[in-house]
Amino acid sequence: MDKLESPASSRTRVFAKVALPIPADKLFTYEVPFELAGQISPGSRVEVPLGKRIMSGIAVELSSEAEAFETKSVLSVSGTYLPPELMRLTEWVASYYGCTFGEAAQSVLPPSFRRSASRRPARGAKQGYDSPLDALERDVLELTGAQRTALTSIEKGILSGAFNAFLLHGVTGSGKTEVYIRAARLALSRGGGCIVLVPEISLLPQAIARYRKHFQDELAVIHSRLTGAERRAIWESISDGTRRIVLGPRSALFSPVRDLRLVIVDEEQDDSYKQEEKPRYNARSVALMRGTFERLTVVLGSATPSAETYRHAGTGTYARLLLSKRIRDIPLPSVEIIDMRREDPETGIFSRLLLERLEACMRRGSQSLLFLNKRGHARFVQCRKCGWVPQCANCDITLTYHRVGAAMRCHYCGFAQPAVKQCPECGSPNISFSGFGTQRIELDLKGLFPGVRILRMDADTTRGKEGHRKILEQFGAGRHQVLLGTQMVTKGHHFPGVHLVGVLSAEEELNFPDFRSAERTFQQLVQVSGRAGREEQRGEVLVQTFIPEHTVFSHLKTHDYDGFMAEELAVRRKLNYPPFSRLVSALCAGGDRGVVSAVAAEWSKELRRLFREKQVDVLGPAPPLVARLKGRFREHILLKGSLSLREKTDALGGFARVAGEIKGGRAVELKWDVDPQSFY
Ligand code: ADP
Ligand code: ZN
Ligand code: ZN
Repeated sequence: MDKLESPASSRTRVFAKVALPIPADKLFTYEVPFELAGQISPGSRVEVPLGKRIMSGIAVELSSEAEAFETKSVLSVSGTYLPPELMRLTEWVASYYGCTFGEAAQSVLPPSFRRSASRRPARGAKQGYDSPLDALERDVLELTGAQRTALTSIEKGILSGAFNAFLLHGVTGSGKTEVYIRAARLALSRGGGCIVLVPEISLLPQAIARYRKHFQDELAVIHSRLTGAERRAIWESISDGTRRIVLGPRSALFSPVRDLRLVIVDEEQDDSYKQEEKPRYNARSVALMRGTFERLTVVLGSATPSAETYRHAGTGTYARLLLSKRIRDIPLPSVEIIDMRREDPETGIFSRLLLERLEACMRRGSQSLLFLNKRGHARFVQCRKCGWVPQCANCDITLTYHRVGAAMRCHYCGFAQPAVKQCPECGSPNISFSGFGTQRIELDLKGLFPGVRILRMDADTTRGKEGHRKILEQFGAGRHQVLLGTQMVTKGHHFPGVHLVGVLSAEEELNFPDFRSAERTFQQLVQVSGRAGREEQRGEVLVQTFIPEHTVFSHLKTHDYDGFMAEELAVRRKLNYPPFSRLVSALCAGGDRGVVSAVAAEWSKELRRLFREKQVDVLGPAPPLVARLKGRFREHILLKGSLSLREKTDALGGFARVAGEIKGGRAVELKWDVDPQSFY
C-alpha cells in the first residue's frame, strides 16, 4: 500500500551503467535508488552487487531507460570520483594496454571505502620527515646559465597552454631537481597544479624532504605504503584544490590535480614506471598522453634517458634541454675498469685494486659505496664434483642459498628446502655456496676489515614501511664507512661523503637475455658512478668485470652517453627493436603443458594469418626464460610492429576463439603486455 502511494513510484527511474574491475568488457546496469539520486554522476565510484559479491565500480553513464531484465540496485556511493579528464585517460589506458575500463580504473582511483574499512586507519598520516641529508640545501640558489636556459624553455611551454614535451638531459648532480622545483613553482604561481613522478619508494625520502621544504602544505605525497584511508584523504585534498603539487611513484600520475599545468617524470628511464600487473601501463607514456589530452607541459628528466626518449629528442618530437656539467663544476668521477680474469680466483669477489682503494678511503674517513649488480640477491649452490644445481620443484629456476634459516629458496614462488650437505646426484660433500650475494660480501668485508662499519641495502634489509628511509638516514649521518647493496643503491641518492664507488660484478645484467640489457647496464653504471664525489673532491669509480672489452665500458670511461646511444640505436635499428618498432608480449600459461602449447601454436597461426599483409612480425611461440612457474607451463609470443587498436582487438579476439575451440583451452591464461619492459 505504502509503496504504491509513495512519490517514488511516479518519478522516472534512473539507471547507472557501471564498469567493474573484471575482464568482461561490458557495462553492468543497476538501478539508482531514490536516496542516492543526485549523488551519482558519470565518474562516481559505486558499490554494487555482482553475483554473491559486492564490488566497487565506476558509473560511466546514467540513463532512464530500464533494461528488459530485472536490475539490482546500487548499494552505496563513495566520495571519490573520476573527473572527466581522468575518465578519458582511463579509457585510453584500457584500450591501449588491452584491458577493460573497470580494470584500468582500479589503478586510477584510491581503494574504495568498503574494502579498506577493515584496515587500520591513518595514524596521524605523517608524511614527511626532516632528513639530515638536506642540511646542505640552500634556501635560494642562484641558477646556473644552463639551468636558467632550461627553465625559460619550460616556462614558455607552461605559458603557451599547449602540449609540450621536453627531455631534460642532465648529468648526475647537474641540478635537474632544482629546475623541477622552479618549474613547479611557476606552474603554481600561475594558479595551476603540478605532478612530479619519481621512481619507486627508495627515492622518495630524499625527494619528499626537498619538495616539502619548498612547498610545505601545498604538497601531497603518494606512495604505495599508504593505507587506503590515507590515500583517500590525500586524493580528496588534491581534488578539492587544497594541495596543488603531487609527488609520488607512477600511480601519482592519476591524481585529480586542479588545473594541472605541468607533469615531471624524473629518471624517466626507470623500470618502475611500468606496472607489471593489469593494467600494464607505463607512466611515462601515459604522462605524455595526459599531456596531449589536457594540453600540458611534460618534462622527462634523466641523467641516462631511455633509448625511446633519447630518440624522440633526437628527431625533435621532444625538445632537448641539456645540463652537461655538474654544479660548481665538480668534475665527473674517474672510471677504471678492472679485468677480473687477471685476478687470482682464490681471492674472492674483490680485486686487489678495489681492496687497496677501499682501505685508503676508510683511512681518510670518507665513505664508499659498493654495488652488486645482481638480479635479486642470489647465491648459487653447486656441486663442485658433478655440477649439480638445485632446482625449484615448481619452476624452472635455480634455487639460491639463504644464510637465514640455512635454506635454499626459489625467488619466484617461495619454495624452500634445507640446504644440502651432500650432493643428491653423486653424493659428494663438496658443495659450494660460492655465488656472491650481499650477505656473503658483508661477511667477507668484515673478515677483511675487522670493525668496519657497514650498512647493507637489499630486499632483506629494506622490508617494512621505514626500511629504505632508515638505511639512507643512517648512511647519510656519516658514521658508516661502507654502503653495500643491489640496484637500490644506484638511484639518485645524494651522499656528500661518498668518494669511492665499487661495482662488483658488472656483467650480471649484460648477460641477461633481453634486448635492453646493454642499455640497462650502461644506465646503472652511469647512475652508480654519479654517486661518487658529489661535493668537493673528484670521485673514483672502479668497475670489476670479466668482459672489459665490451663497448659499454669504453663509453662509461669517457662519460659518453651520446656515443653509447649512437651505437645502441644503430643496433636497435638493424634488429628492428624499440624505439624503431613497438612490441606486444603475449604469455600463455596453464597447468597442462599440452593444452598450453596447443593454444599457443594455434593462436600464433591465427596471428600470422591476421598480420600477413601488415607490418607486424609474429615471433614464437617459444618457451620463455622461465618455462614453468609456480607449477604452470608457459609459452611466449612476441608481436613486433605498431598494432592499431583494431588489430589489438582482433588479436585478443583470436585468442578467445582459439582457447574456446581447444579442449581445456579456456583454462589457459593470457598475459597481454603492450610495450613490455621485461620478458619472462
Ligand atoms: P640532479 O637532480 O641533477 O642530480 P640536484 O638538483 O640534486 O641535481 O643538484 C645537485 C646539488 O647541487 C644539490 O645539492 C643542489 O642543492 C645543488 N644545486 C643545484 N642547483 C644549484 C645552483 N644553481 N647553485 C648551487 N647549488 C645548486
Ligand atoms: Zn654432485
Ligand atoms: Zn619456484
